[in-house]
Amino acid sequence: MSSVRAARVRGLADLVARPGASLELLQEGAPAAGSFEVVDGRSFCFACPRCGALAALTLGAAPCAWFWNGSEAAPSLSPALFHAGCWHGWLRGGYFEGTP
Ligand SMILES: [Zn+2]
Repeated sequence: MSSVRAARVRGLADLVARPGASLELLQEGAPAAGSFEVVDGRSFCFACPRCGALAALTLGAAPCAWFWNGSEAAPSLSPALFHAGCWHGWLRGGYFEGTP
């Protein structure tokens, strides 16, 4: 499976909170799939690396939240991420790596 570079952007978190933002972004063509923004080290907002749909994850301690390596240049998260029916995989070392 191909990997998608995770790209740090600004303003994504604001868009995640707005209904319809995902569709709006697709129409504008940006930010690209795989974009992300970390908010206060507690929330990881990202655009699905396949379809660009926006999502937000809570960062913290497993098993109730995702562990983030603290890097915005080469972020890693665990456990795996998924967008139901669309994409499933890992964010490791700054790349979204899809699993079959
Ligand atoms: Zn998707």
